[in-house]
Amino acid sequence: MSETVRKHQEFLFPAVATYYQEPLALTCGEGMYVWDEKGDRYLDCFGGVLTISVGHAHPKVTQAVVEQAQRLQHTSTLYANAAQSDLAEKLAQITPGRLKKSFFTSSGTEANDTAIMAAKHATGRHEIVVLRHNYSGRSATALSAVGHAPWRTWPAQVPGFTHALAPYCYRCPFKLTYPECGLACAEDIEEVIQTTTTGEIAAFMAEPILGVGGFIVPPPGYFERAVEIARRHGGLFIADEVQTGWGRTGEKWFGIQHTQVEPDILTSAKGMGNGAPIGLTIATPEVADSYPGLTFATFGGNPVSTAAALAVIRTIEEEDLRTNAAETGAYLRAGLEGLKEKHRWVGDVRGKGLMQGLELVKDRQTKEPHPQGVLQVFEETKRRGVLIGKGGLYGNVIRTGMPLIASRSHVDELVAALDAGLAAVTA
Ligand code: PMP
Repeated sequence: MSETVRKHQEFLFPAVATYYQEPLALTCGEGMYVWDEKGDRYLDCFGGVLTISVGHAHPKVTQAVVEQAQRLQHTSTLYANAAQSDLAEKLAQITPGRLKKSFFTSSGTEANDTAIMAAKHATGRHEIVVLRHNYSGRSATALSAVGHAPWRTWPAQVPGFTHALAPYCYRCPFKLTYPECGLACAEDIEEVIQTTTTGEIAAFMAEPILGVGGFIVPPPGYFERAVEIARRHGGLFIADEVQTGWGRTGEKWFGIQHTQVEPDILTSAKGMGNGAPIGLTIATPEVADSYPGLTFATFGGNPVSTAAALAVIRTIEEEDLRTNAAETGAYLRAGLEGLKEKHRWVGDVRGKGLMQGLELVKDRQTKEPHPQGVLQVFEETKRRGVLIGKGGLYGNVIRTGMPLIASRSHVDELVAALDAGLAAVTA
């Protein structure tokens, strides 16, 4: 075992779990690839959980970070800085609808905590409707919003969250089929509000595609219906774009832009900084203006993180990566559909753009989850120099989140590794 892994296991909380039987210690990265301590190269198809958006060590992002770090590394929120102001202006331009005012933090968890607090202040109410299979982060508030027992390792501490049924068509909670279902899962939100809240809510908060939940893609019309119901009961709509933002889903900047719905608050993190720690809560002026002071975040709007994020956004624009995410994503999707035809373990293929997953089952009829199969695919793909991710309530969903610079040949490499991995799966 490498010294790095040994020290990790001795000196870190064991809860900081790593992938693979023999964990990887990474030393460097460039573009689509990372290298481990042994000098072995891996095609990175998970990007540190959809965070490497424009590729490892992208020269434009590195340059922005280095120049900013040499000039001014820290201000706190008590002083203005140009990187933060320029980023906030850019975000007002590219985020949907009337979103305009930003609050920067350092993670997705903090972004969601801030959004929930903002919705409560703006409405004067405290109840929040979230989805089962949702993931929001690891603070007391965010954890209370999580709809995923394996991550809820301690009873939720913050009251007021109620979990609506997930728009999970493959495992439809009503055992119905779209579109004959009439969007029963969205309709149910009405009853959830009427029966589990005071009848008036602060917000409905949801991921446009449920990421940790296993890339669950809500059916067309879901958000239009769900948000209409939430708003009729006084609620704001918070779109958690921590995974789905920054062109990941193809063509659009944000996942919710594939629907007709405009959020009142949008949160993000991950791919926004390409690895620089940053969290974003952007809201309409009314919502932002109703957030009372004093409030403060030491690292909020940190000039190095905001300079990185601005460079990431410019790179996505200059290299037309939203188009690439759509085109290369469609090519990947076709490859994954081919794997479904070939391997009986693949129950469902789903996602959008360069956010594509495979749900593995032991039997297509019973849909019994096959988490051990995922682990077998993990070891085999690693042997072939390809890194992938996993998720899903049952740990049976293979998640891929290739950097948006991925080309068809990278996809071919990934699909070939998955093919070999699936061939190695046993019942
Ligand atoms: N929201 C979503 C949708 C996420 O996927 C995550 C992280 N997996 C978070 C929030 C929390 O982000 P962080 O880990 O940066 O706190």
